[in-house]
Amino acid sequence: MSTLPGETTAAYEVTRRLDTDYYAVFADVPDADRAVWDRARAFVDEVGDRMRDAWDTASYPLDLAARLGELDLYNDGIDHPDLTRFSPLAAGLVTMEVSRGDGSLGTVIAVQGGLALRTLALFGSDQQQRRWLRPLARGEVFGAFALTEPDHGSDSVSLATVARRDGDGWMLRGAKKWIGNGASGGITFVWARVDAPGGDDHDAVRCFLVEQSAHGYTGTVITGKASLRGIHQAHIALDDVHLPADAVLPGTHSFADASTVLSSTRSGVAWSALGHATACYEAALQYSQQRIQFGRPLARFQMVQERLTRMLDELTAMQLYCRRLAELDASGALRPTQASLAKHHNTRAARRVAATARDLLGGNGILLENTVMQHLADIEAIHTYEGTENIQALLIGRDLTGVSAFT
Ligand code: FAD
Repeated sequence: MSTLPGETTAAYEVTRRLDTDYYAVFADVPDADRAVWDRARAFVDEVGDRMRDAWDTASYPLDLAARLGELDLYNDGIDHPDLTRFSPLAAGLVTMEVSRGDGSLGTVIAVQGGLALRTLALFGSDQQQRRWLRPLARGEVFGAFALTEPDHGSDSVSLATVARRDGDGWMLRGAKKWIGNGASGGITFVWARVDAPGGDDHDAVRCFLVEQSAHGYTGTVITGKASLRGIHQAHIALDDVHLPADAVLPGTHSFADASTVLSSTRSGVAWSALGHATACYEAALQYSQQRIQFGRPLARFQMVQERLTRMLDELTAMQLYCRRLAELDASGALRPTQASLAKHHNTRAARRVAATARDLLGGNGILLENTVMQHLADIEAIHTYEGTENIQALLIGRDLTGVSAFT
């Protein structure tokens, strides 16, 4: 420690886990779910500071993505006889915990488990599932879910990538953007519109399993991101990619199938937002107890206490949303717009908590070593993906009023 005037504290310890749960929302988590949660906590401890460096250098540590599979943390609540069963609560707690540690790794779970594995488990043929389900679940193969296009984001229902019949097989042509794991050397579930004039399935949206080594498939990592820098998203070109007939997922027939996957992962984003907000609140609380100004710890000042209270208020509401979401899901009663409301509330609340925490840490708040800035930046991406705030509001608004205001 320096003895120079004006420099008595070199660093602050703000990353200790405080297990904030003011309303005992998670006090009665069943043992089986707690065991899964503990596995996620051990993983976060094992990762330590590594993701801070990955974020700083915008590198994607695939070994950690593989490790999540080794630890069987990709299940995401998917119900399939060949997969370990996680309850929705266990799946949520994993996503929360890993996102609390690092947002990029939280997004890896959303992409690999929530999107890719879920698409295969829901819609794949027996043969596709026999070949790919376990390797995806175990993190031996990386999976991507390619719906969004450069010209079609919120209106992905208008997707323009086409699938044409090509002899006995198919040919894909189009472009995709923002695809997590899309340049990881694994497989991509590509959503495309069948172009077969006069055919029964003309214009139908279907999903195709594409090996990223296929001729005509080019995945280019998107650079210059200021959010989720520790996972790579790709811009994908599909330049006449020839596929065998059995590349199509037989369970997919319309855009509603893609929506089914997205409804499930929306709940995951609500949990992820809770993880980010927890990390920020706990960093702010710890910092306020260590940082001395005007001869006192910041925690002694009234306005600081008010800000901590405001953050706890938001955090507790987020926890209650998540717990109830898991209960509704477990009972089979969860409606898609209820997941939308949880996402709508939690990513907005997480943004407010992160911004307040960042301010409370003063200049130190922008240093990556104090974690808040990274969470603040990462929340921006989860606030957008799986449907923006506006899109969730339109989905909920349609449910409330019976009137669609999308166009
Ligand atoms: P736009 O649709 O262009 O929206 C821009 C703004 O306009 C938003 O504020 C939006 O709310 C608003 N807006 C749009 N339409 C309306 C309307 N009708 N009324 C009012 N406001 C409107 N996609 C995948 O397929 N796979 C992935 O793995 C994947 N991962 C992603 C990872 C990251 C980090 C990011 C940033 C995105 C990812 N996405 C992925 C894409 C993501 O789902 C889209 O970014 C999202 O749906 C929004 O689309 P957009 O970015 O094109 O925004």
